Amino acid sequence: RSTSSKEIIQREKQYVAQNYHPLPVVLAKGEGVFVWDAEGNRYFDFLSGYSANNFGHCHPKIIETLIEQSKILHHTSRAFYNNVLSDFSKQLTEYFGYERFLPMNTGVEACETSVKISRKWGYTKKNIAPDEAKFLFATNNFWGRSLAACSASTTPETFQGFGPFLPGFQCIPYDDLTALEIAVQDPLVCGFMIEPIQAESGVIVPSEGYLKGVRAICSMYNVLWSADEVQTGMGRTGKRLAVDYENVLPDILILGKALGGGVYPVSGCLANDIVMSVIKPGTHGSTFGGNPLGSKIGMRAIEVLQEENLSENSFKMGEIFRKELNDRLNKKIVITVRGKGLLNAVVINPNYAKAWDICLKLKDKGLICKQTRDDIIRFSPPLIINKDQILESADIIIDTINGL
Ligand code: PLP
Repeated sequence: RSTSSKEIIQREKQYVAQNYHPLPVVLAKGEGVFVWDAEGNRYFDFLSGYSANNFGHCHPKIIETLIEQSKILHHTSRAFYNNVLSDFSKQLTEYFGYERFLPMNTGVEACETSVKISRKWGYTKKNIAPDEAKFLFATNNFWGRSLAACSASTTPETFQGFGPFLPGFQCIPYDDLTALEIAVQDPLVCGFMIEPIQAESGVIVPSEGYLKGVRAICSMYNVLWSADEVQTGMGRTGKRLAVDYENVLPDILILGKALGGGVYPVSGCLANDIVMSVIKPGTHGSTFGGNPLGSKIGMRAIEVLQEENLSENSFKMGEIFRKELNDRLNKKIVITVRGKGLLNAVVINPNYAKAWDICLKLKDKGLICKQTRDDIIRFSPPLIINKDQILESADIIIDTINGL
């Protein structure tokens, strides 16, 4: 007899740190846009492992690369050269339009790396007095769980009880160019990091022109702009990058999640030499960052993104999805439908229902997703989803919400 979902949940509650509050579903298998629970029930995956599974579950080309490279050479450390990292970096820099790549593993490490690069650049290129550099973030940012990320957070759940925090961090309102222009006039400011769409805080899409404005202001005041595309990158929002919507290039581009194909943690920062050269041997690194297995998987992920036109598919499927939801959802229950490509969210009127309860009902109807704030549900399926599947999923969501 195989272990039931109920028993597994009980066991996890007993033995695992309770730092998450999962939906009560135990996943046991995945293929493409679907996952199956321990009892064999099938679900549309509308979370995609927090946007890491852009290629769907068990994509044959990605799995083949994982298996093949792991039989040849998996980890060396960067005490030596390996024969994959340079190819991966060449491919990434050419595809995204930068000169250098600094490899890490997780999103939070890559974001923190961009803060470190910016501070070092501030001291060595902008002549900021030692230990005086300031770094700007936007309110409601989310870039992970390290102490630097907690120090930058304005979300009490994220930072409360974890102080003391790093000095030199300041938050300004998101989507507010005036606030940015005032803040960057302080000559101690070395960098500004934003998500081009704020994902975890509820898929907040800034006004058109915001990213262009950020680019112009940061250039004018000699401040490095870092774009945290850990979640929005790799085709998620219907373009290669979310910054592509405004044809702008950040000074530091941060990637993670789907860069590892959903099978292995791969992240990093891209920048031009003038910026990246501030990092010297011994000043930054990671045991696993740039290892041949992760690098090979990253290369395959970028290839699959292009070969299968996944950014274009994400754009098209996103348009269909939002149109269905906008046209047919009961507007008394759903206040807003928003997003780009396949990073979308609905805002629920709290007088009608709790987002968590809707997620439970959707699970019972065969679609799993999760709320990001108490009243917001994010919908982010794998980018390989086809038209029939997106329409079927939209039907499930609309029937469930309108039937409340
Ligand atoms: N940046 C953004 C925009 C994210 O959404 C996340 C995770 O959700 C991170 C950074 C942190 O990534 P990781 O959990 O891999 O550290």
